[in-house]
Amino acid sequence: MENVIIIGTGPAGYTAAIYAARADLNPLILTGTQPGGQLTTTTEVENFPGFPAGITGPELMMNMQQQAEKFGGRVEFGLVDGVTREDDGTFTLKVGEKELQTKAVIVCSGASARYLGLPGEEDLVKGGHGLTACATCDGAFYRDVPVCVIGGGDSACEEATFLTKFASKVYLIHRRDELRASKIMAQRALAHEKIEPVWDSGIKEYLTDEKGDIRGVLLENLKDGSTSELAVEGVFMAIGHTPNSAFLNGLVETDENGYIIQKQGTLTSVEGIYAAGDISDTEYRQAITAAGQGCAASIEVERWLAEQE
Ligand code: NAP
Repeated sequence: MENVIIIGTGPAGYTAAIYAARADLNPLILTGTQPGGQLTTTTEVENFPGFPAGITGPELMMNMQQQAEKFGGRVEFGLVDGVTREDDGTFTLKVGEKELQTKAVIVCSGASARYLGLPGEEDLVKGGHGLTACATCDGAFYRDVPVCVIGGGDSACEEATFLTKFASKVYLIHRRDELRASKIMAQRALAHEKIEPVWDSGIKEYLTDEKGDIRGVLLENLKDGSTSELAVEGVFMAIGHTPNSAFLNGLVETDENGYIIQKQGTLTSVEGIYAAGDISDTEYRQAITAAGQGCAASIEVERWLAEQE
């Protein structure tokens, strides 16, 4: 029987792991499908305190993992398929063929990139045919060709700016005529000579060649309904995220979008299950706020376990 299993390895998961390990709880940390979480798909992180010169997302996450392991945290690759609450108040986690028993759970499973829901998207993503949600991962494949980014938030501006390193042209397609992004990110993107905003527009269809690779998009002007073709070889999605809470199958209370509701501190509606980071954050979604929550969750677990003894 584990003391605590931490689900997810973003800043929330690793910070929870560091604190739980230092509290001698010998935590088990399950990575999920994207070890290191969303920050592994970011370039430079300039706003995480302690790194005045900035640090890359993957490097920051590697440091966090090392720090968790240094104090005895056990990081294992594993995707949790389900969680059951037993009669004695402990939990069973189904991880592939394995079943793991634990007294407490900290859910730090974060959120995943959203797509538009157009036909063929899954194949385009999985087949590497030109649709992706990660400029850092895939940007370098689009040297000297035109690409587009969908969205108007900080992610869209960041991705668009990053893509200018490779692409010949970056269209920033937004459904309104005003960006949601912070001023500094928006200004940086719009001032770039390679970035061209396409306002009040959305993608109606992906246009592919005989190999199935994207060669353009059919755009719809959302104000007048007119359509036009735009030649691009890469489409980068940046329209927000969906919380990864489906594996809990309704065990803990969530809002209508699937974000886990924290009842008191990081405690969820189920005694012994805590949530930290983007899985329950619809407001801040920052690495540092996630890390802070991971810390809080571990302290709360430690106290709760001590009370049980
Ligand atoms: P976001 O702020 O929620 O923005 C999502 C964008 O996608 C919005 O512009 C939205 O349009 C658009 N959108 C949503 N659904 C759409 C759909 N179905 N079709 C077309 N467009 C759609 O998400 P985000 O940019 O990923 O940022 C999430 C959080 O992370 C934010 O708090 C952000 O500040 C933070 N972040 C920070 C940094 C940084 O500081 N380095 C970098 C990235 C993200 P509307 O504007 O019309 O709603």
